[in-house]
Amino acid sequence: MQGLMMDYQLTLTPLLDRARRLFPNKEIVTKAGPGLERLTYGQMAERVARLANALEKLGVKRGDRVGTFAWNNVRHLELYFAVPCMGSVLHPLNLRLPGDQLAYIISHADDQVIFVDPSLLPAIEKLAPHLKSVRHYVVMGDKVPEGTTLNPVHAYEDLLRNSSPTYPWPNLNENDAAAMCYTSGTTGNPKGVLYSHRSIYLHCLGLSMTDSFGLSEKDVIMPVVPMFHVLAWGTPFAMVMLGSKIVFPGPHLQPRDLAELIQAEHVTITAGVPTLWLGLLALLDKERYDLSSLRGMIVGGAAAPQWMIEAYEKRHGISVMHAWGMTELSPLGTVSRLKSYQDTLPETERFAIRAKQGISVPGIELRAVDETGKEVSWDGKTFGELQVRGPWVISSYYNDERSADSFMDGWFKTGDVVTIDPEGFVQIVDRTKDLVKSGGEWISSQDLENFIMAHPKVMEAAVIAVPHPKWQERPLAFVVAKPDYKESITKGEIFDHLRTRFDKMYIPDDIVFIDSVPKTSVGKFDKKVLRVQYQDYKLPD
Ligand code: AMP
Repeated sequence: MQGLMMDYQLTLTPLLDRARRLFPNKEIVTKAGPGLERLTYGQMAERVARLANALEKLGVKRGDRVGTFAWNNVRHLELYFAVPCMGSVLHPLNLRLPGDQLAYIISHADDQVIFVDPSLLPAIEKLAPHLKSVRHYVVMGDKVPEGTTLNPVHAYEDLLRNSSPTYPWPNLNENDAAAMCYTSGTTGNPKGVLYSHRSIYLHCLGLSMTDSFGLSEKDVIMPVVPMFHVLAWGTPFAMVMLGSKIVFPGPHLQPRDLAELIQAEHVTITAGVPTLWLGLLALLDKERYDLSSLRGMIVGGAAAPQWMIEAYEKRHGISVMHAWGMTELSPLGTVSRLKSYQDTLPETERFAIRAKQGISVPGIELRAVDETGKEVSWDGKTFGELQVRGPWVISSYYNDERSADSFMDGWFKTGDVVTIDPEGFVQIVDRTKDLVKSGGEWISSQDLENFIMAHPKVMEAAVIAVPHPKWQERPLAFVVAKPDYKESITKGEIFDHLRTRFDKMYIPDDIVFIDSVPKTSVGKFDKKVLRVQYQDYKLPD
């Protein structure tokens, strides 16, 4: 027997319309140079309609891909709605990728139009001769800068001025593609993940639930995570769905810029990778800002070290919301929040739980599987590869032969090695390729890194495996000292610190002091670079 409920299509179009009707005066603030640009949802909704008309005039059709090469700002948000709601596919491009990978992605996605921030023009000008699919470029500003080599090229504001403020939004199917992002940090060419209206819609609900991040219309949300990194973790769609005030930092991502924006605009929720928050923490420990409005900091993309969670909460009263996700999951998979009966546990235990990656959000099913394909028990000890399924999980990469390797019996293989404890808390042990295999035992590089970073003189730490004649592999640690301790830090004190927790076999064979850990295009530690540089490193006997 079938249910008798509407077959209502979950598309993005009504989300913007709701914000326009219910919260027309709510602000969207963008940091632009020394000043701030302010727009309301009412104004934005009209501009989105103008933009859709302009795109149509440029020849963009349903299903066509539209690339964006832009920071987090309100024009980018307008594209987030105009493109999918007219039935085309938004494709935010990672600004930090090398030129050859960008060219690959743009041609693989077959982008027809590229929108580019004026400050980023030189990078696209350099690539343009290789971009055969692109028919138009649009500079996201008032005018086209003189002397640009892009052709044909238009100014965003001219296009909007010359277009109608109303647009007949089509009725879309919820399974139509809405947006795409390419994965970062993989070996080989990046792989495309194609989100549907339905997956984004449901992910918005998952993200906003009280036991996820508890987002509300009353919040002032500042996504620092770039809009090209898994669609800023889906926050732009959720903010509009709820009608929250939005604050965009533009290209201004230094700790001082962020602290000033939070203070001035009374931001209540922000989101980004740990490296960003380590920088802000160092600033807050030195200078005074009033960040009392900030009730939550969403931290994901890499592990949030326990000491960082404690430092924010104990020293600055800012609550860290640690989450795990992936481009392939839109990205939210787990959130690390205490269960009701864990609230009374001793403080150290509570923080230790919250440093884990967390429990699955409703909508996501997960399991850990050993090398033979058997599910491992939830004992908090046994390692397995994390596999997931759910309505906002990828079912196949876009036009990519490598897809088959990533799925098993309808589950997506994440490539993360985890334990799951009896309460269901997932703890990432490592990426499969980052584990150190020493004498038949697995050593978690992430565990070592997090512990070294808890040392008061240490700013960053990375651990890699280096070949060893007897043990197969042994860990080698890289340490970046905090600026005040660059001269005084010693290997001996790091080894002493490690010995307080780890058995001899887990302790790295050597420590190398470096100026900074190389970062990937989305700000995570890039251990590939260290592996290449130190592949012949001779460990001490
Ligand atoms: P990306 O698709 O670029 O967002 O990368 C996803 C990968 O980042 C995951 O497979 C994990 O390896 C890593 N990751 C994301 N969130 C966390 C977290 N909270 N702790 C540890 N690793 C994480």
